[in-house]
Parts: sequence; structure tokens; C-alpha cells
Amino acid sequence: MTSANLFPGVKVILVETSHPGNIGAAARAMKNMGLTELVLVNPLDFPNMKAVFRSASAVDVVRGARVVATVEEAIADCQLVIGTSARERRIPWPLLSPRECGEKVVTAFEGQQKVGLLFGRESRGLKNEELQQCQFHVNIPTGEAYSSLNLAMAVQVICYEVLQAKHAGNKDSGRSKQEWDLPFADSAAVEYFYDHLEATLIQVGFHDPENPRQLMTRLRRLFNRVRIDRMEVNILRGFLTAINKLGKPGEPQEAQEPQEPQEPQEPQEPQEKG
Ligand code: SAH
Repeated sequence: MTSANLFPGVKVILVETSHPGNIGAAARAMKNMGLTELVLVNPLDFPNMKAVFRSASAVDVVRGARVVATVEEAIADCQLVIGTSARERRIPWPLLSPRECGEKVVTAFEGQQKVGLLFGRESRGLKNEELQQCQFHVNIPTGEAYSSLNLAMAVQVICYEVLQAKHAGNKDSGRSKQEWDLPFADSAAVEYFYDHLEATLIQVGFHDPENPRQLMTRLRRLFNRVRIDRMEVNILRGFLTAINKLGKPGEPQEAQEPQEPQEPQEPQEPQEKG
């Protein structure tokens, strides 16, 4: 029997969906395209038989859906997170077309990375804070008069592109299987790093939490662009800890360091000389 899940480790994450029918229709759209890992963040009305009815023969996807309380929990183990958005945001993020999104997902999947595809609420999409936890945004081009697709239709378009990219990649023997020599840091480790960075910027008097402006957003965008790996995130956190030990300017005392993440230990960075 052929497996329904052609993309183990690639999950579709629906955030605070209001209508259970949309959950069922999204599950069907996923299964049609070979994706079965569905995560529901705080759904408003689930479980509900409307989800089952709308899923047709993808009832297994609905019944297998994992329900979590927060986006952070849903993406914690993901090394690539792509958020979908119908609107342009104030601080633009690296933007992909649906086709490029499909290619990124398949390349990441082939490199054994865990991937999260984030879809927003029917009423108001994804919040800025949620979109800022993504490395990329994807926008489905539409006619000018109406840019907001039904949630399940948006899931259909993105999953279709993922499957098409896999088919195209299978023909293309030159596709690189390995994007990088070390695993990319997962979302949980990167979030700990941002917390640590923010605390340290406050400690040294560079960042005023009472007047944050867009500092942390811009720094998130900077680090997102390079996609830090596990070793790099540990180096950066070690560097921040060294700064923490210096204390506040003019007041030498140790700053409170955010909790260590539950990260596997990385090998020591070799001491390079010369
Ligand atoms: N009214 C909301 C749109 C919600 S549509 C807003 O203005 O943001 C529900 C979800 O479907 C969106 O959060 C997004 O995940 C997806 N979606 C809808 N239209 C899309 C588009 N043109 N491009 C990418 N994703 C889209």
C-alpha cells in the first residue's frame, strides 16, 4: 500500500481556525497533495463533525490532527517555518511565490529538516508576532479586487506547489539534497536566542523596553535572513552570556540569563589558529 504521507516532517499549521468545516476542507486539500501532518493551534470549535464531513476521505488527517495551545508549541521543532499572508506588512519579510515556497519546502524536506507551513485565522490572518517567527512569507497572487482566499483554498494552492516541486525535483537529479553542513537551529532554540539577545541589549542600555520601536523585529529579520545553524546559535548564546557576566555599565553584576533551551549539546568549536 502506498503511504498517504509523502512528506514526513512537513506540517500544515492552522492558527485559531473559527470554522470546523475549513479544517476538514484543509485536511482534504492536504491529503490530495500527499501531506497528512495537521496541527491546529487553539481551534475555536474542534472536534466537530463538520470537519469530518468536509474532509471526505481525509478523515484520518482530521482525526490525527495535533491540537496545541500556541504557535510557539506548534513550530518548536521546525527548522524552516513559512507563513502565508494575504496582505503586505509594515516591515516586509523575505517573500516567496507559491512556487518558490514549494521548492524551499522540498529542498528542506530532502535535507531532513522539519518544516512548518503556517496559515492564519479566517477573520484576520496571522498576527505580526506570528509572521515574525517565520523565515519566509508566501503570498498567493490574486486579482486586485480581492486578495483573501478561503483558508482551505490557500492550503490547497501551497500544498499543490509542494507536490509539484517534489515531482520536478525527482526529474532533476542535480537538486542539492544537503543545503548546509550542520542542522539549522530549530524555532525553539532561535526563540531562546532572541529572548537572550533582548535581555542583553536591555542590560547594556542599548534597548529600552519602554520604547522598543522596531528594534527586535529588525534583528529577527536580520538573523532570519542568514538562517543560523545549531552551532552558530550556541556560539551566539555563549557570546551573550560573556556579556551578561560583565554586568550593567557602571554597575558590575551578573545579569539574569534566560533559561537554557533543551538543546542537544553540540561538539566544541575547534580552536582555529592563524
Ligand atoms: N482577512 C485575513 C485573511 C484571512 S484568510 C487577512 O486580511 O489577513 C485565512 C488565511 O488563508 C490567511 O491567514 C492565510 O494563511 C491564507 N491566505 C488567504 N489568502 C491568501 C493569499 N492571497 N496568500 C497567502 N495566503 C493566503
